[in-house]
Amino acid sequence: MASYTQEELTGMVQEAGLRVTGHRLAVLGYLSKVKNPVTVYELVDALRKKDNIDQATVYRNLASLHEAGLLRRLDFNHGHAHYELETGRASHQLVCSNCETIEKIEGISIDDTVKKMLKKSKKFKQTTTHSMEIYGLCKNCA
Ligand SMILES: [Zn+2]
Ligand SMILES: [Zn+2]
Repeated sequence: MASYTQEELTGMVQEAGLRVTGHRLAVLGYLSKVKNPVTVYELVDALRKKDNIDQATVYRNLASLHEAGLLRRLDFNHGHAHYELETGRASHQLVCSNCETIEKIEGISIDDTVKKMLKKSKKFKQTTTHSMEIYGLCKNCA
């Protein structure tokens, strides 16, 4: 996971047309450092401890950052959302269907598969990015 400087995060918020606030930078800053997509609960917990930001504020900032296209929201069939920074790069993760374990796998390309999908598609002309979840059992649950 790439890490971003405070200036880069500030630039991202500005480019997205949002006002730069300490809360928005705190949310982006946290998400830029984690290895795996995090749940809202983890985010609330971490930011409350670290920056003393309350839950409603975290939710509000997540919503505005997501709407502005800076965050990617992922659904792992857990009944709650997970968030990660929208880097524009593809993201691939293994997801345990029995517990909350997620593992992001870097350095894998499915570009050939994407090309084949596009070739078979009747409705699409191009692809931009993708996020892929493969379900299975983690070592604890298997
Ligand atoms: Zn989850
Ligand atoms: Zn598991």
